[in-house]
Amino acid sequence: MTKVLFVVSECAPLIKTGGLADVAGALPAALADCGDEVRVLLPGYRSILKHLGKTRVVETYKDLFGGAAKLRACEMAGLDLLLLDAPHLYDRDGGIYNTPTGADWPDNPERFAALCYVAAGIAKSGAAGWQPDIVHGHDWQAGLTPEYLHAMEVATPFVFTVHNIAFHGNTGAERLAALRLDAGRFNADHFEFWGQISALKAGLAGAARITTVSRTYAEELLTPEFGIGMDGILRHRQADLIGIVNGIDEAVWNPAEDPNIKPYTTAAGKAANKKALQKTFGLGKADGPLCVLVSRLTEQKGIDLLLEALPHLLEQGGQLALLGSGDPKLEVALLEAAATHSNVAVKIGYDEALSHRMMAGGDAILVPSRFEPCGLTQLYGLRYGTLPLVALTGGLADTVINASPAALTVGVATGVQFFPITAQALGNAFVRLGELYAQPKVWSAMQRNAMKQPVGWAASAAEYHGIYEALMEAKT
Ligand code: ADP
Repeated sequence: MTKVLFVVSECAPLIKTGGLADVAGALPAALADCGDEVRVLLPGYRSILKHLGKTRVVETYKDLFGGAAKLRACEMAGLDLLLLDAPHLYDRDGGIYNTPTGADWPDNPERFAALCYVAAGIAKSGAAGWQPDIVHGHDWQAGLTPEYLHAMEVATPFVFTVHNIAFHGNTGAERLAALRLDAGRFNADHFEFWGQISALKAGLAGAARITTVSRTYAEELLTPEFGIGMDGILRHRQADLIGIVNGIDEAVWNPAEDPNIKPYTTAAGKAANKKALQKTFGLGKADGPLCVLVSRLTEQKGIDLLLEALPHLLEQGGQLALLGSGDPKLEVALLEAAATHSNVAVKIGYDEALSHRMMAGGDAILVPSRFEPCGLTQLYGLRYGTLPLVALTGGLADTVINASPAALTVGVATGVQFFPITAQALGNAFVRLGELYAQPKVWSAMQRNAMKQPVGWAASAAEYHGIYEALMEAKT
């Protein structure tokens, strides 16, 4: 049994802004099935501590990056948690990364450095008698951990998972002392990135193994286009870079037992959910497919491409129901499209229950991302018989089988992929989707294929387990 400390800034169902939280919330249970014991070190954000039941204080810190702090242990939602209760860093209104007006918190570098510092301390001395064999950090918020492990002279191996390379956690060199970093290691071999301190770079340089969330993304990261400045270090570390596709929590995303929907076990059961969803979104009946999209609204997610290609969907008699929030410009443009077209409906906001109803009621789920490390909504779509229409990139390339003539003949297609990632190619994909939808037998066969795809965590958790085992063997 390997004891693993997850270091992560969000974890479903406690706190979530994106797919990172889903992974941190579901992977520990899947690893437990492999025989590993995971504890999750998470910032004690106000919203978490407010709803907390009983906790045990297992460590206290007199001065943790500017204030006193406590480490609290508890079990919650089936997870073994270690919550860093540091009011000066986490007890505030607003988002977990952003102020109420949307700017990054100015002290984000300290907020997440503190988490890494505490992680290294747990690796060194344990917490309430529990000491990890492996520290597994996720994204830049956990990136400085190997620097503190080094400073504390701890040999515990560090595994680093990149969920999205676009976020670097960079800050100016004047913060070296404030972040308790060793100025002697402020160089290109460790955590210096073009004159700045980079938490992501620190993680990439200091990890025993680097993983990312799909095989295709692992390859893409080695190129300047996708590596976003980190491709050089990643090419250097290529021998230790492994792509492991994300799974989904099959208990939470299960159409047969989902409390948010009219449950079903075959795609025929989607009809009642579709009707209900159309009503919710104020959409009427239509001849073409009802496409749904649930996402952060950012440049990455290709929402502008969708807006441009939309006429092709509408010409097919298709409909769009979209749920998301983010870039105000995109929000306005989407609301304008909804006001102009009766077959387009948009809800701005974040709504977990509605996202389940959209998976159940939609015919197709859209993911037109410019890049997508893994993507989760296409996996929910597969499980719910809601066919993914996706860009050919990252995890979207690895999890969807395109309805090419060959795949249709063999009977393995599960969705539609488009490339290059342009509005024109997306428009053509809408035409293909409409043609497939107009052939009920073909469409039903694809839905059956989709619902059969393995999208749970079992296989991927076994891969992480294999990495831990290899590192443990190398230690002895
Ligand atoms: P990313 O992590 O880049 O945001 P993913 O597809 O990996 O993208 O994960 C996004 C997660 O957040 C999914 O679980 C998705 O259902 C959820 N999500 C995103 N936006 C919303 C929203 N507006 N309402 C409900 N869930 C959302």
